[in-house]
Amino acid sequence: MRVILRRQNILIAKQNRSTRVFSRPLYFFVLVVVCLSSISCTFQQKKRIFRRDELLMDTVVSIQIVCRDPGKAKHLLDKSFVLARKLADQMNSHNSNSEISQVNMKAFSEPVVISKDLERVIKKSLAISRISHGAFDITVAPLLRLWPIYKANKFTIPDRKKLDEAIGLVGWQNIELDALNHTIHFKRKGMAIDLGGIAKGYIVDRIVDYLKRNGIKGALVNAGGDIYALGRAVGGELWRVGIQHPRQHHKLIAILEVENKAVVTSGDYERFLIKDGVRYTHIVDPRTGFTVRKTASVTLVGDDTAFIDGLATAIMVVGATEGYKILGGVHDVDGLFVTEKKEGKLDFRWTPHFITYVSWASFLTKNNKPELKRPHSSIH
Ligand code: ADP
Ligand code: MG
Repeated sequence: MRVILRRQNILIAKQNRSTRVFSRPLYFFVLVVVCLSSISCTFQQKKRIFRRDELLMDTVVSIQIVCRDPGKAKHLLDKSFVLARKLADQMNSHNSNSEISQVNMKAFSEPVVISKDLERVIKKSLAISRISHGAFDITVAPLLRLWPIYKANKFTIPDRKKLDEAIGLVGWQNIELDALNHTIHFKRKGMAIDLGGIAKGYIVDRIVDYLKRNGIKGALVNAGGDIYALGRAVGGELWRVGIQHPRQHHKLIAILEVENKAVVTSGDYERFLIKDGVRYTHIVDPRTGFTVRKTASVTLVGDDTAFIDGLATAIMVVGATEGYKILGGVHDVDGLFVTEKKEGKLDFRWTPHFITYVSWASFLTKNNKPELKRPHSSIH
């Protein structure tokens, strides 16, 4: 029965998300990850879980907090969404008035003073670029413009010359951050930044910080598949996070149980366009200029949502084998990499510690099950 309830939750999430984006010719599907715990908690102790969902950044942002006082919960939810909206506005490069758009317009001519938040998120982005050898690069904006996957009728594969010109403008090393004066400067004319690969994770972290500072011990914050699970759910239970099957949208491939962890999934099945049988996604490989084809989805578990948001995007670019190596050099981040081999046939790889978060997974057999925290049956 509880499983059925959870499945209904998935459908609700799909309806919410699609309300805004279905006018576009692109298929937007269900949220990558669906949070499962809250439904059962709500049923058991209605008073202590408070939840609100809003459409933001083309996705559903959902905040659940464990709290005794409805007045306090309402206030914190109000303030959390004010914060989320403010940050989303600052980092939206599609709005010409946003802070990041101002940077894109002016930072070649002169150093531009930026807010603390922008400075932090750009600094973190540069660190991820270094770790991923440039697979994650926020200066991919000129390349992204060449792939209008959101406009199916206008979509054509860009010619090589245009791609090469745009690649010439990409390069995280050409961003100069001045930590003393809090400025940013672009070394190359025509450069531009897109924060789509990290902004959501950063916003999740900022909301969690805000809730913690206000005495909240348990919360689940989800921005379209970028999740932070703070403390525990009602009744001291771990938070349960379902990972969606990248090809069968009503199915899950795993359920994780976590506390004080970020769980981020990046995939090729939410924002994409299929033309002549080829799937074009919203993530581009800064080296080839093409949209990525290697990986169906990447789920990372770590401590810092923004960091693993960017890292998951990077691994979408480099694929499972390289991704595995990258995680080898990073402290305390574990991952599950899903690759489509033949039409619909998936291949799963994971780092050894990832399994400790899994309470159920479709891809585990008797041979690799013993490390599981709980037997499969406990989730039904
Ligand atoms: P989602 O936003 O669906 O959760 P991601 O976190 O993987 O997915 O971010 C994808 C977004 O990142 C794209 O929409 C684009 O704005 C940006 N992006 C695309 N390719 C790159 C890249 N190679 N490096 C950094 N950002 C990228
Ligand atoms: Mg990302």
